[in-house]
Amino acid sequence: MDENPLIGVLALQGGVVEHVRMLEQGGARTRLVRRPEHLEGLDGLVFPGGESTTMSKLMELGGMLEPLRSLIRDGLPCFGTCAGLILLASEILDTRADAYCLQAVDVTVRRNAFGRQVDSFETDLDVAGVADGPVHAVFIRAPWVERVGADVEVLARVSDGGPADGAVVAVRQGTVLGLSFHPELTGDDRLHRYFLRMVAGHRAIPA
Ligand code: GLN
Repeated sequence: MDENPLIGVLALQGGVVEHVRMLEQGGARTRLVRRPEHLEGLDGLVFPGGESTTMSKLMELGGMLEPLRSLIRDGLPCFGTCAGLILLASEILDTRADAYCLQAVDVTVRRNAFGRQVDSFETDLDVAGVADGPVHAVFIRAPWVERVGADVEVLARVSDGGPADGAVVAVRQGTVLGLSFHPELTGDDRLHRYFLRMVAGHRAIPA
């Protein structure tokens, strides 16, 4: 318990190494997660950006869906960015009919939501619970959150006066954190540290 937390990064596809770097900078130990046995003993798990339907297929083929669902039911702290948020959602709009999501956070996300207006863009966001000024957020064919369940806290919305103004792009429900953007790409580790505080809070609760 006095060891640094062990955080898995789902490494089936997508932007893995950047998350590893940010988590280690925040004092965590990390492990790449490719098979069910890699889930053993984790204190938290990151679902990176990438391509959600591909990751869904790989999770299914690798026998990861049930072990992940069971860990999520048991309260494992999870952090999803972009495609990772899509995987953690309870409902996905504009995806393939055979794509799975893990229902870790009670939100409906729309895949590639910003794509109709702008494929990729950057903006500054005020994120609830993150001190020291706005977070510079990079969006790459990102989803937004279209419905937020009663137990979900909205941490940030786009507020740049542009076409996506007001869109919900950061949410938290208990031990699950989901972002539409890519905090691992900017060198600002405040959101990874936020997640590591969630993990520390969860570890402090006796089992
Ligand atoms: N558009 C991608 C998807 O569906 C997500 C993009 C990203 O993770 N940068 O899954």
